[in-house]
Amino acid sequence: MAVPKRKVSPHRRGNRRAHDSLKVEAFHECSNCGELKRPHNLCTQCGHYNGREVIAVGL
Ligand SMILES: [Zn+2]
Repeated sequence: MAVPKRKVSPHRRGNRRAHDSLKVEAFHECSNCGELKRPHNLCTQCGHYNGREVIAVGL
């Protein structure tokens, strides 16, 4: 079994855990209609992305 050669210092351990509080958001509110949408994808409800209409969504 692979075994760590040295004890991880409190500083290194803290550095490793620095990003633990960051969580990935799978869904975000659309800024246009407020519907939940996936980040970096255009909204399926209103067809908006980055503040403008990209595709026309038929109602
Ligand atoms: Zn929308």
